[in-house]
Amino acid sequence: MTTPRSAERVRQFGTTIFAEMSALAVQCGAVNLGQGFPDFAGPEWVKQAAIDAICADANQYAPYIGVPRLREAIAATWQAQGWRTVDPQTEVTITSGATEALFGAVQALINPGDEVILFEPFYDAYLPDVTMAGGIPRFVRLHPPTDGQQNWWFDPAELQAAFSSRTRLLMLNTPHNPTGKVFRRHELEQIADLCQTYDVIVIADEVYDQLVFAGAEHIPIATLPGMWERTLTINSLGKTFSLTGWKIGYAVGAAPLIAALRAAHQWITFATATPLQYAAAVALEGALQNGYYDRFRAEYTARYRLLEEILISAGLPVLPTEGSYFLMADITPTGFRDDVTFCRYLTTEVGVAAIPPSAFYARQTDLPLLARFCFAKREETLRAAQQRLLAWRQRS
Ligand code: PMP
Ligand code: GLN
Repeated sequence: MTTPRSAERVRQFGTTIFAEMSALAVQCGAVNLGQGFPDFAGPEWVKQAAIDAICADANQYAPYIGVPRLREAIAATWQAQGWRTVDPQTEVTITSGATEALFGAVQALINPGDEVILFEPFYDAYLPDVTMAGGIPRFVRLHPPTDGQQNWWFDPAELQAAFSSRTRLLMLNTPHNPTGKVFRRHELEQIADLCQTYDVIVIADEVYDQLVFAGAEHIPIATLPGMWERTLTINSLGKTFSLTGWKIGYAVGAAPLIAALRAAHQWITFATATPLQYAAAVALEGALQNGYYDRFRAEYTARYRLLEEILISAGLPVLPTEGSYFLMADITPTGFRDDVTFCRYLTTEVGVAAIPPSAFYARQTDLPLLARFCFAKREETLRAAQQRLLAWRQRS
């Protein structure tokens, strides 16, 4: 037998569920409500800023920590939201998407054998991020809104039991992909208390911070008492400006945490696309002046309500989404017993692609029967999905 060419750390990795379902959607001509990306353009003024930066020859390596104007725009955004005064020189770093920030942060903050707490379901990259750094994941379940609970919830006793003297890191995602949960202040306080008791650092993935609906409030855990020193907050322009292909991400945090991330980042990508950083600065500066975030939320609220109505009329009850651009639908009424089979069927036979949430669980027991649908889509795309879903409902 020949020696495997791949290293052990990657040998178990398959292809991401997003790549798999998007490929299947293309192959079958399905309407793709699976992988999370907008099928509409980002703002003209932001695209023009990228063109201008390229034409102005901002095309060589950026400083490895990011161009100053973008770091300043991020600090101004934190200030304008009333979150904190941030030093753009020592407390902000630009990365190639939130994906790189997450990978680099875990590499920078844990030693092999350290334990990392993840809420399950978790955004799929977190587990490889932890295992490639030699960390040991510990899972805490988020439960769907049943048993009198209005929203996804966790058991504080289960959370407490996940902590030990070996815990080094907790990865928090709010608003949460795939559930749409926005963590409440009292939940963040429980997490913060335990992190302080056990001297644990938080990686807070807040890429959907501007996509919060109907009364929910996004609270960065870094703003809670005692948490600034132990939180690295990660964000990205991909979702907020409908430019997922630009891969401009960033991290904000206390100088020692940012210094650790920079130490890793300089050897991962070193620097991020220069003209796109200038355009990202224009985007953040402009959004603070021109009401962009309110318009963005209003447009997404309309898309959310339309997809909700479509799924319900197709016989798929939906769970409430408080934030993000995903809706979880209950597939129990369809008679399917697992979400992967259902999502493959829906893509190939009905012509609508969705993501099976089991891809976001490490432990494949006691899973809710759900499918994740993305509403970052044009009305005509959602209407095309509606036609196919209604035709399916009529023939079944
Ligand atoms: N975190 C979450 C929760 C996400 O949903 C995504 C992408 N959909 C990312 C991180 C990755 O962000 P980026 O595209 O900026 O790398
Ligand atoms: N984050 C996106 C989602 O949840 C996908 C990003 C990717 O394909 N890596 O659908």
